[in-house]
Amino acid sequence: MGDVKLEHVSKHYDEVTAVDDMNLDIKDGEFICLVGPSGCGKSTTMEMIAGLTIPSEGQVFIGDREVTNLPPKDRGVAMVFQNIALFPHMNVYDNISFGLRLRNYEKEEIDRRVNRAADVVQLEGMLERMPDEMSGGQRQRVAIARAIVRNPGVFLMDEPLANLDAKLRVHMRTELQRLHKELDTTIIYVTHDQAEAMTMSDRIAVIDSGQLQQIAPPLTCYNEPANLFVAGFIGSPSMNFLDGEITNTGFESTNLDVDFDPADLGVEVGSHVTMGVRPEDVYLAGDENLAASPGHPFDATTDVLEPMGDEIFVYLKLSEEVESTLDEEDTGATNDQLLMSVAPDTEIEEDQDVSVVLDRSKLHFFDTETGQAISHGIESAVQASGAAGTEAESDD
Ligand code: ADP
Repeated sequence: MGDVKLEHVSKHYDEVTAVDDMNLDIKDGEFICLVGPSGCGKSTTMEMIAGLTIPSEGQVFIGDREVTNLPPKDRGVAMVFQNIALFPHMNVYDNISFGLRLRNYEKEEIDRRVNRAADVVQLEGMLERMPDEMSGGQRQRVAIARAIVRNPGVFLMDEPLANLDAKLRVHMRTELQRLHKELDTTIIYVTHDQAEAMTMSDRIAVIDSGQLQQIAPPLTCYNEPANLFVAGFIGSPSMNFLDGEITNTGFESTNLDVDFDPADLGVEVGSHVTMGVRPEDVYLAGDENLAASPGHPFDATTDVLEPMGDEIFVYLKLSEEVESTLDEEDTGATNDQLLMSVAPDTEIEEDQDVSVVLDRSKLHFFDTETGQAISHGIESAVQASGAAGTEAESDD
């Protein structure tokens, strides 16, 4: 009953296409995050599921019913928004039960639902409090409890944690996961914060410019991004991108080459590709045994260091001369620098000449023009490292 389906849904506002031919198939009980930069169409998508906005084209289904033109109250959904509006003159109990009282529920039934909801969001003992006697997190929990008492088939949450401070946000993420486990209902959650999406959801729907870029479990989006946009958006700090060309000996870019058989990528020699590598897949020579499939070393100079406590981010300059032949706006590629993450106890300084190695099994290749992924890992390198894994498994 909590299945949600969007079929070819679009929303146009005069000149703007807020959502462009969106197809989503959300299973009952799934926790889905709609994630993307501000203005990409997340809220509009959510509003069309909620019934607050009617699509220009396409159909919306909840359960086995088409709801495209139904008002919000007839959809079996409950919403929690960023700006929680609690009634300031009502205590927590009255705030939570307001909707039920409006619908003339029996007192016993109201009591039962409010107590259960308060239990789920851990507000027992606070039902008499007034909103101004509570912290931001507690008030947010009241708003969630108010949604829970309605027993919705689907929860819609639009940036519900955006106004909370960082520590509370992390805490509430865990609470929402627990809530999802306990209620076992569909949650559709809008956020611009990829970390929030990564940590909470069963699947992430990554949206850009009104279009769905990829919908997949968080780690699939991380390890096998469908295109340059997803690769750059998921993961913090971002993946490094280098523009270059496929040659007879592999990948060649302004400042570094990677050797492999071009047949591994299945693209023609001469193709213009963008290579992506995450900071944790860049190693200092000497540490390359940590990589599943270390490539050959190349020279770099350390620039800025950012010690994070559990790791150090090292900005590497690949060349003194910045000789960029690329269109950075298109791909975000920076061929003259690379971000590397190293262990916190690594002895490293700024302006130091170092030798650096990439893990060939973790390199991503994208078609520079279309942005579409060509390959995740160089096939032979992946097989080599994968084969090692299989051997280890068969030892058991
Ligand atoms: P997000 O939630 O990802 O920040 P929105 O769904 O709010 O994005 O908006 C997507 C695009 O649609 C934006 O360009 C926004 O300006 C536009 N938009 C949203 N609502 C309206 C509206 N009521 N009228 C005109 N344009 C709108």
